[in-house]
Amino acid sequence: MIDINDNFKYNLNNFPCDSTVILPSHNDDTPSHMNTDDQIMKETEISTLGEFGLIEHLTRSFPVRNESTRRGVGDDCAVINYGKDRETLVTTDLLLEGIHFDLTYVPLMHLGYKAIVVNLSDVYAMNGTPRQVTVSLGISKRFTLEHIEQLYEGMRIACEHYGVDLVGGDTSASVTGLIISVTCLGEAAKDDIVYRTGARDTDLICVSGNLGAAYMGLQLLERERQVSAQIKDKDFEPDFSGKEYIIERQLKPEARRDVIAEMRELGIHPTAMMDVSDGLSSELLHICKDSGVGCRVYEDRIPIDYQTALMAEELNMNLVTAAMNGGEDYELLFTVPLADHDKVARMKTARLIGRITKPEMGAYMVTRDDQEMEIRAQGWNAFTAADDK
Ligand SMILES: [Mg+2]
Repeated sequence: MIDINDNFKYNLNNFPCDSTVILPSHNDDTPSHMNTDDQIMKETEISTLGEFGLIEHLTRSFPVRNESTRRGVGDDCAVINYGKDRETLVTTDLLLEGIHFDLTYVPLMHLGYKAIVVNLSDVYAMNGTPRQVTVSLGISKRFTLEHIEQLYEGMRIACEHYGVDLVGGDTSASVTGLIISVTCLGEAAKDDIVYRTGARDTDLICVSGNLGAAYMGLQLLERERQVSAQIKDKDFEPDFSGKEYIIERQLKPEARRDVIAEMRELGIHPTAMMDVSDGLSSELLHICKDSGVGCRVYEDRIPIDYQTALMAEELNMNLVTAAMNGGEDYELLFTVPLADHDKVARMKTARLIGRITKPEMGAYMVTRDDQEMEIRAQGWNAFTAADDK
């Protein structure tokens, strides 16, 4: 049976190119016939290229941008040289279809962009500069060359935007679904690196941007997917009007390079830092545990976008819970010494949300009515997510 979900489509305006994509359902691993719709081009079976042909084809449009990339794709290894007195940062992420993404509503181009960005975010979270990525794919039969090209187009745009080089990877057939593994290499001067362990009593806690938007975007996409599945209307158009921002935050997150740049400009060196991938609660507890401290964050200081608030109201969800525990915001959470108060107060990309305390004070959120609520990690967990299915 060939089951293509072709009635769930949308176009995000601010992707640099047309991103309307129609996607194969992940329940069906038979080869797809995507050319039923006029905007889908002819399809090419990946096996016609062979593995090396595929790699050559996909990586052709990735120029080398960094001096530290001595050799990129095309030899047994990439060769990287950051020079002396520089430390190498390495981070890797595995994305599995059905666990981390649902192709019913995630366009492949966005998925490619996001797969790169989430890795870069980890390098920025160490106060480093990402330089190189490797990309490995497991591809099942229902994906054609044109699908993988869309995925790589998203990756190419991300690499261009953030100035990183694609220097290697691997591809293989997969029995079912799409598997994406991205590794990012970056660099930093030894003294610039910020760990999770450096927060001290009386430090100030700051977070960039706003929280909960990506999570509310996911809730909206999930809702529209369910509606689409129920009504089985060929012309079903999900209604995202007025909610573009939260959809964008879910499908096309950005790494906060600008926050790092602003801190450098203002002469701020955080004592501890993380990116918010699993939810603010979870990340705060990581910093508290790893630094051996406690914290107080103030509910009325948690930055929340208007669209996030509207969506929470529409879905009858607790807004602060969504902001504290919703993941995938990729904002930066960091602590600075109290003496830097005036500097962080001048930051445009981040705001103060609380303070670090002695460890025996525990980790609490101070509510608007001055109650203290213990912070618990309720962030997203891939292992429990898999168990629930
Ligand atoms: Mg991280």
